Amino acid sequence: MTASGAVWVYAERHGDAFRPVSLEILGHARSLADALGTKLVALTVGADDGPARELARYSVDEVVAVEDPLLVRYDTKLYTDLLENTLRPSDPAVLLIGATRDGQDLAGRLAVRLRTGLTAHVTSLEVDAEKRLVGWVPGFGGGIEAGVVCPERRPAIVTVRPGVFPLPSPTTSPAEVRIERPSLDATAFGSRRLSFEPKGLSVDLTRSEVLVVGGRGTEGDFTRLQRLAHCIGAEVGATRVATDSGWVERERMIGQTGVVTHPKVVVILGASGAVQFTVGIEKAGFVIAVNRDPDAPIFEAADLGIVGDLGPIVDRLVDQLGEA
Ligand SMILES: Cc1cc2nc3c(=O)[nH]c(=O)nc-3n(C[C@H](O)[C@H](O)[C@H](O)COP(=O)(O)OP(=O)(O)OC[C@H]3O[C@@H](n4cnc5c(N)ncnc54)[C@H](O)[C@@H]3O)c2cc1C
Repeated sequence: MTASGAVWVYAERHGDAFRPVSLEILGHARSLADALGTKLVALTVGADDGPARELARYSVDEVVAVEDPLLVRYDTKLYTDLLENTLRPSDPAVLLIGATRDGQDLAGRLAVRLRTGLTAHVTSLEVDAEKRLVGWVPGFGGGIEAGVVCPERRPAIVTVRPGVFPLPSPTTSPAEVRIERPSLDATAFGSRRLSFEPKGLSVDLTRSEVLVVGGRGTEGDFTRLQRLAHCIGAEVGATRVATDSGWVERERMIGQTGVVTHPKVVVILGASGAVQFTVGIEKAGFVIAVNRDPDAPIFEAADLGIVGDLGPIVDRLVDQLGEA
């Protein structure tokens, strides 16, 4: 059995692949486990052990794979039962889960089952001087960054937002893989699937290297932004005002309730720079902001600021880039 007090990462599967956030967490968790002086264990659940062997190449000390041919889709009750049964005897100090839809569902259930604390949706993770795991979350509407610890119960369960850590590369020396076979039947599931229509994301801004982002100042004219984005090979992002107004899809929202991005370059047009928005671009390499208000807070987050009406500025840029 795995030694107690380890850092565990739940690697969520999506078919034969892992959710990118799970690998992002694994990459960062190595340094957390080292700082806590403990082992790093990756835990996954699925119908076969192929992907688990792939996980073993991500600088982990051990992989635990719960495997059964029936485990082809997520089920709240069943996954909670399986993870509880695996985690209880292993007594981890920390359990990190990607803040995906299923990950958030699972984390809350598990926290109740294991009578422990859950820090939800962290944007950063560190080990403090007292060797405690600290999860940082934007609090009070984004006005502050709150550091949350879970000192009295374990495991400290934490869900991590997609895109906050870089994707690691696999290494050459694989870790040991331990397979657990629960032998299930259909009664183990808490739900029955009647039909299934997959809906993929139209875009994943966490992977985009160049972004053009529009806010209320665009007045809904995203065609103009799309022309600029096309010229510079960028994806289009938006503030909450723009997505709430239905100008672009919800997946394009950047910020505290949207996605956290880390593009090399981001051009922000007609956004005021509310902290709930800027938390989603603070890891960008170079920030260009256009706003007609010289006192707009977005200029504090910008490397290059242009004061003016975004319409003629974007049109001129598109003309010149088009010619180039
Ligand atoms: C709990 C909570 C979570 C939130 N999460 C998010 C989130 O994830 N993402 C997010 O974006 N917001 C979020 N918000 C909302 C956030 O507080 C702001 O309201 C929002 O980001 C403002 O969007 P905006 O900058 O587009 O609009 P505004 O704040 O109205 O700013 C519009 C800007 O455009 C400029 N402008 C207008 N016309 C022009 C023009 N022609 N040319 C140039 N500039 C022009 C104006 O000067 C102004 O600065 C959240 C709020 C709360 C309370």
